[in-house]
Amino acid sequence: MKYVDEFRDPKQAKKILLEIDKLCTEIVLPEDRPIQIMEVCGGHTHSIFRYGLNQLLPKKLEFVHGPGCPVCVLPRSVVDNCIRIAENEDVIFTTFGDAMRVPGSEKSLLDLKADGRDIRMVYSPLDAMTIAQNNPDKRVVFFGLGFETTMPSTALSIMQAKKLGVDNFYLFCNHITIIPTIKAVLDSPGMRIDGFLGPGHVSLIIGTKPYHFIADEYQKPLVAAGFEPLDILQSVWMILKQLKNGEAKVENQYKRLVNDNGNASALSPIAEVFELREFFEWRGLGSINHSGVKINDKYRQYDAEAVFKLKEVTVTDPDVCQCGEVLKGVLKPWQCKVFGKECTPEIPLGALMVSTEGACSAHYSYGQNIDLINQKL
Ligand code: SF4
Repeated sequence: MKYVDEFRDPKQAKKILLEIDKLCTEIVLPEDRPIQIMEVCGGHTHSIFRYGLNQLLPKKLEFVHGPGCPVCVLPRSVVDNCIRIAENEDVIFTTFGDAMRVPGSEKSLLDLKADGRDIRMVYSPLDAMTIAQNNPDKRVVFFGLGFETTMPSTALSIMQAKKLGVDNFYLFCNHITIIPTIKAVLDSPGMRIDGFLGPGHVSLIIGTKPYHFIADEYQKPLVAAGFEPLDILQSVWMILKQLKNGEAKVENQYKRLVNDNGNASALSPIAEVFELREFFEWRGLGSINHSGVKINDKYRQYDAEAVFKLKEVTVTDPDVCQCGEVLKGVLKPWQCKVFGKECTPEIPLGALMVSTEGACSAHYSYGQNIDLINQKL
């Protein structure tokens, strides 16, 4: 398939892997440990496991799966607030498919749907706004989540609701921002990440310039990367070349889509509708300053938090859940006590097992794929 097959060419992959292997032997770290590269984006985590890249790379190099899957970092308290909204008789609650399966303290949105509440999966916030137009006697709430990638469509749907006078449409806003999150990872005690695969989708929106502090202040390389196997391998090679040369730069491997200045048409509605929150609670990472957005005063009438008077409550994960340790790279997914036993993609106990971009789900689904890939190379 044009524009796909050339990024999955096994011969090219083998060539880059040989280069990577050579670079790994030439890089000297101050301590005796593997070179650690964090893929920030859940899309990269999925590709790494799907194509078995982690198992093709030399032992001296390992991926650390970062906090870039928005479903995986949702705290239970947010799901509980979704349930509180959806339990109102006059509410139609809408969201993306993955979010419906994230466990709350007692149940998920999917469980509540099975109990008979009107909860609908949509493909875009505009679909949710159309449901509101078609159901004027109901309050229609869209549960918006995701990084800068999904913010523009949510913002545009709110602007459209205002333009069309749709006053029974609300947003429960849980959108998050990438830069404070990476900064929190860099500032965490014992941080040993040597370089970053920059999130391709977010970079489409914000460009590569906001990442420069990572190279300038923390002296870590970052390469904005695409999602095909050769994209990821080439990006790893670019990071390793910097490490070998003692450099720390921001580079753009995903030039076929990412403009270094970002996408002004997508950034404009974000600035129009949202403002930064003072802090936002992340599963496993705690509260991170300015890492989320909320609806600004101009569009406050669409803010479900204000309309449904939601409380901010902290709800801890069950003791057996080790999602926080996996998110921070302290544990590998399979090292969690309940991985593949009490916690599977069919019956997820933790959020990292829900989305296909979650490290636990991706590892559970594709952990055995390496034999097939080895046969091809
Ligand atoms: S196996 Fe389940 S509980 Fe354990 S870290 Fe993964 S998602 Fe969380």
